[in-house]
Parts: sequence; C-alpha cells; structure tokens
Amino acid sequence: SDPTLRPERLAEDNDRALRPQGLDEFIGQAEARANLKVFIQSARQREQAMDHTLFHGPPGLGKTTLAQIMARELGVNFRMTSGPVLAKAGDLAAILTNLEARDVLFIDEIHRLNPVVEEVLYPALEDFELDLVIGEGPAARTVRIELQPFTLVGATTRLGLLTTPLRDRFGIPTRLQFYTTDELHEIVARGARLLGVTADDEGIREIAKRARGTPRIAGRLLRRVVDFALVEGNGQISRALADNALTRLGVDKLGLDGADRRYLSLVAENYQGGPVGIETMAAALSESRDALEEVIEPYLLQQGLIQRTPRGRMLAQKAWDHLGLAAPKKQGG
Ligand code: ADP
Repeated sequence: SDPTLRPERLAEDNDRALRPQGLDEFIGQAEARANLKVFIQSARQREQAMDHTLFHGPPGLGKTTLAQIMARELGVNFRMTSGPVLAKAGDLAAILTNLEARDVLFIDEIHRLNPVVEEVLYPALEDFELDLVIGEGPAARTVRIELQPFTLVGATTRLGLLTTPLRDRFGIPTRLQFYTTDELHEIVARGARLLGVTADDEGIREIAKRARGTPRIAGRLLRRVVDFALVEGNGQISRALADNALTRLGVDKLGLDGADRRYLSLVAENYQGGPVGIETMAAALSESRDALEEVIEPYLLQQGLIQRTPRGRMLAQKAWDHLGLAAPKKQGG
C-alpha cells in the first residue's frame, strides 16, 4: 500500500476511515464472526431475509461495524437509527414502510426504545406486519400494513435492560467480548497502514496494550500518538514515543484513563475498598449510574480490578497494587 501519510484520513477524525468493510477484514470476535458467516451465507442461499440479530457488549467493540458488514455481505441496504430517536410509533412506521426486501435495519441502544414503539415492533418482527392506529377518539381505527421481510439488527450495552419479549424475538443473540492485546495489535497495525504512518512493532504493541480492550479506543489513541509523532517526533511511532504520548494523554500502563482511576481511588480512599453501592458511587463521582455500569465497570471487572457483590462494589488486590496503596487489614471476626 501507499506508504505516505494520508492527511485526509487523519483529518477525518471519526471511526469511519478505519472501519473494516467485510467480515474477512474484521479482526477478533472469532466465534461470533464464524457463526455470522454461516448465517449470512445461509440467508443468501435461501434468498430470504436473515434472522433478527442482537449484538450486546460494551461500547466500541464493533456492533455497528458488524451490522454494516452484514448488510454489505447480504447485498442489501443498511438503515440506521437508535432507540431514543424513535419517539413515536409513527417514526418507526415511517422507517419500516420504506425498507426494501431483506434490508438490514440497525437500531442502536435498543434497550432505550419507548414501550409504545416496542409494541409496534413486535408484529413487524414476527409477521412483517404493522398495526397502526390512525386518528383519535371515536374516529380512531386500526390499519394493517404489510411490510417487506427485513432483518433487524439491535445493539445494546445493557442486555439486562431489554424486555423479555423483545429479547425473545432475536434469533441470533451475539455477545461481543473485549479484544485481546494480540487482536488489538493487528487492529492498530492495520490502522497505521491505512493512515500511512510508519510504526514499529513495539510502538504498535504499546498502543494495543493500553486500548482498554476496545478497537474504538485503539483507533483514537493511534490518532493521538500520530499527532505527537508528527509534531514532537520524526513522524514514526516507536515504543518510547507511544509510551510518552499515552502517558501525557492520561492513559496509564493498564490502559486506564482518568475516569477509571477516579473510580478506583474513590473506593480505596473513601470506602476502604468497599463494598459501596453503585448509586453512592455515581453521586460521589458526578457520573450517571449508566455510565459507570456501561462504560467504566465492564473493563475494570474484566481486568479483575473490582468485584461486584450483593452489597456493592469492592476493590480487588490488583487494584490496590495498581494504585500503589496498601489494602486495609480486615477487621478480626
Ligand atoms: P459499537 O457499535 O460496538 O459501539 P463500532 O462498530 O462503532 O462499535 O466500532 C467502533 C470503531 O472501532 C469502528 O469504527 C472501527 O473503526 C473500529 N473497530 C471495531 N471493531 C473492529 C475490528 N474488529 N477490527 C478493526 N476495527 C474495528
């Protein structure tokens, strides 16, 4: 590929430039990918809409990307909306009636669908039919509208917040996992190639190790490290340059950022390591409970830094070590 820096891709400071286009370009999530490959192929052979698919897992792991890849590999249109945007039944109806046969409709944050809208969605998912109430009061009547068969791809960071009837209507529920350092290494290397940046293996590894298991974060960190390389270095990414840049960005050796460390410090310093309830944590950190549960905690749990107990969150030994603090001695008992 072209080895020169690509300013247009660097400037496009969003996820788009680095988004994999096909299933074979998508790195990691081996199990999910292998299954999807079969289901896509089967739908194509049957010439039918693929079954409704639900992706769940923390933000930035590739839910939207996989939905787009599905549409491309199925050879159909991709339409995208999100739970909070669909305020009224009519909003959903307008989208559904405009779908062509076998299209993919992606609904992000599907756990945040208005219940009224969700009711309208059920018959659409099951029988490709819409029952709409037109008018109000005594003049109100129901009309049934036939829809083209389509594939709903839902994405959620909070599987537990989905209603059971909605959950049950997805034939292909798929959980996305945090990525390993090796997988992120491949993703960062690919990103550097696409951006036209020279990076040695150790430099790439440093970014991969500190990307919080998340491709979106890997992409962001890569761009920022490139900025440092261009302005303060020789334009190339080495381990020393990456380490220095990431440290200045507030990303520590475990890949934790300021919000992660505030979380851990709070439990350590104000609650002697816990247990402490999530609402208390949210108030003390001025963060929403959702942000703690969807964004911060999944990675801390996966890294074994915290534990969830019935009485609240507790720090694990690894967190004390990471903070450089001594765990308080347990009271005798
Ligand atoms: P989600 O919808 O789960 O929040 P996205 O699909 O928007 O996550 O992914 C965020 C970004 O991370 C994408 O734009 C893409 O650049 C990158 N990305 C995600 N998964 C991968 C992957 N497996 N390989 C390479 N890049 C990825």
